[in-house]
Amino acid sequence: MVFFSESSQMLIPSTIPIQSLDHPLLASKNIELAIMRLDLVHPGVSGNKFFKLKYNLEQARKVGKDTLLTFGGAYSNHIFATAEAAKAEGFQSIGIIRGERTDPLNPTLFHAESLGMKLHFVDRKTYRIKTESNFINQLKDLFGDFYLIPEGGTNELAIKGTREIIGENESQFSHFAVSIGTGGTFAGLAASISSTQKLIGFSSLKGEFIHLEIEKLLSNHQIFSEGNYQVNSEYHFGGYGKYTQELVEFIREFYENFGIALDPIYTGKMAFGIWDLIKKDVFEPQSKILMIHTGGLQGNIGFAERTGIKLPGS
Ligand SMILES: *Cc1c(COP(=O)(O)O)cnc(C)c1O
Repeated sequence: MVFFSESSQMLIPSTIPIQSLDHPLLASKNIELAIMRLDLVHPGVSGNKFFKLKYNLEQARKVGKDTLLTFGGAYSNHIFATAEAAKAEGFQSIGIIRGERTDPLNPTLFHAESLGMKLHFVDRKTYRIKTESNFINQLKDLFGDFYLIPEGGTNELAIKGTREIIGENESQFSHFAVSIGTGGTFAGLAASISSTQKLIGFSSLKGEFIHLEIEKLLSNHQIFSEGNYQVNSEYHFGGYGKYTQELVEFIREFYENFGIALDPIYTGKMAFGIWDLIKKDVFEPQSKILMIHTGGLQGNIGFAERTGIKLPGS
């Protein structure tokens, strides 16, 4: 399958690698656990962001826009991926970044800017009103016309993309696990699972609001899952971007056991959650669980800089 355009050299492998994990805990519980390596789909546009951007870039081209504009925090995987995709596909890009410009820039923003993304910093108060039309109009006055991609990249076309992550090839699995930020990836998976399958989304944010948020997202996009889905809000580790020593140790052990790097914002929390639920016998014997590795490893470099903690992949 061709990624963004016929002329593009960016090819998506026709099958995304799924790796089976081997561990005494899994054997003792009679559980099969595997991981789908979306982190390998593209070196820059990693993980779920690849699927979320795919049809948006196609649409931007179709409507004749040559500039992409989007929003994000200072370490955002979405900003990084949008800068990469824009560069590869010949779009200009603008990133509206929450907070003040630092000198030097952190590794995420440094990379985005070096790819040609124009960075525009706004204070937290302004950032909160970023979806209001007068703010968008101000941005149009500043930058001219653009194709707008929302924060985190979730919109109708993004979900069209994330619906393609799993399908017929994954019919042998009984359970899927994915991390939730805005829920766009979860929504696409919920739309794809069959009546005998179950999806568990692990919220990376603190709070029970996420349950309602996901219901709203699914209903706004007219997604009626055939399968069984569930949002777990127990493994946020203090909130978005927060972490504990236990999480850090889990990510290191996971790498030692399986040679797979995880990030502490999303995939580390999801994998911790699944591992913990397996330990607690939440899954019936003979369950076949597929974790979705949504990428995000670029953030480990910034995480090391921010916290002094070096994780695999940084
Ligand atoms: C953005 C991101 C998520 C969250 O995806 P949503 O579709 O916003 O829920 C999960 N994992 C990683 C690694 C991400 O970069």
